[in-house]
Amino acid sequence: MKAFQEMEDQFSLPLFNKRGLTLVRGENALVWDIEGRRYIDCAGGHGVVNVGHANPRVAAALAEQAQTLITCTGSFYNDKRALLLKKLIEITPASLDKVFLCNSGAEAVEAALKFARLTTGKTDFVCARRGFHGRTMGALSATFNPNYKKDFEPLVPGFTFVPFNDFSALQKAITDQTAAVLLEVVQGEGGVHIGRKDYFENVQKLCKEREILLIIDEVQTGFGRTGRMFASEYVDLQPDILCLAKGIAAGVPMGAMLCSAKIKASPGKHGSTFGGNPLACAAGLAAIEFIEEHNLPQQAFEKGQYFKKHFKGSELAVVKEVRQIGLMIGIELKKKAQPYIKALQEQGVIVIPAGPKVVRLLPPLTIEYELLDEVIDKLTDVLGQTTLQ
Ligand SMILES: *Cc1c(COP(=O)(O)O)cnc(C)c1O
Repeated sequence: MKAFQEMEDQFSLPLFNKRGLTLVRGENALVWDIEGRRYIDCAGGHGVVNVGHANPRVAAALAEQAQTLITCTGSFYNDKRALLLKKLIEITPASLDKVFLCNSGAEAVEAALKFARLTTGKTDFVCARRGFHGRTMGALSATFNPNYKKDFEPLVPGFTFVPFNDFSALQKAITDQTAAVLLEVVQGEGGVHIGRKDYFENVQKLCKEREILLIIDEVQTGFGRTGRMFASEYVDLQPDILCLAKGIAAGVPMGAMLCSAKIKASPGKHGSTFGGNPLACAAGLAAIEFIEEHNLPQQAFEKGQYFKKHFKGSELAVVKEVRQIGLMIGIELKKKAQPYIKALQEQGVIVIPAGPKVVRLLPPLTIEYELLDEVIDKLTDVLGQTTLQ
């Protein structure tokens, strides 16, 4: 049973803190390891499987598309791609008219940075402290965490970081060379910090006045996660550019950068071999239709409220604060999160960290209430254990 773990350890670059499990099967909010043990998956591939593991509708769409046409570059038109593009424009804020399809969140951010420079002729970006936008050189330049960046400098120049939710700091950071402001509505990797409505209203107004582009990164918050289809809806954001990935295609790799009509683009300025791949488009289309038909944003909202009501975090000595919006949940501890995350896994619940002291839950939005109850019970039990260090 350990053979696969040994094989991965031997042949894979050691870039992940391995969790010691070999996952081989999933069904909705549950996953099973190779020894047949069942886990409630509140990591969801880092907030990817909003529609549940092995979603039958997505599986059928993938199987059909795989037998029809797997690849088709952007030089040719494709039926599934056309339908997905139209759907994305229908469900996102009204300011967005066009889509660039790619394969990950970082790629969506890379595209955003390039098109912001191309459109404005300016070079610089204002981003938030604790913000996370990906691991490629451009996206990493926009990411705050110095530990992720220090070994890879020099990165792309022109990035300034200001405290999140602090409008006057952001205002002061704007210069004549600022092409765009780039923000998450809810900071995910940075510890689940929720953007204030008045902050984003002011940012949006400032960007309009100063003719600076507003880039919103909803890679983690999109597709129902926060209790709305997009977290931008909470603050009525009309961004110039919107970055999407994670939940877009039920776990099939896909990213998207959406933009307003004022963004400049022409053949040769950017591209991707796999971007807009029909297999991923078929999965994306099926996933979004499933999200709409089952009203998953509303389900996420209600399940988030249920969690908030029944998980009595404030009664646990180790808990500093619970931050929750829909089914994006961060439990900030007074101690290191890792021992608790490990203990939860031993109890059959998979969660992920968001920084050293935050336990983060990003379960499928389709999670059953009975499983949510089990998660709440086990969280209460494990976080209540005083012996964990
Ligand atoms: C995960 C994430 C990214 C990067 O996405 P990848 O697909 O891992 O490249 C970018 N922005 C946010 C907000 C994310 O949560």
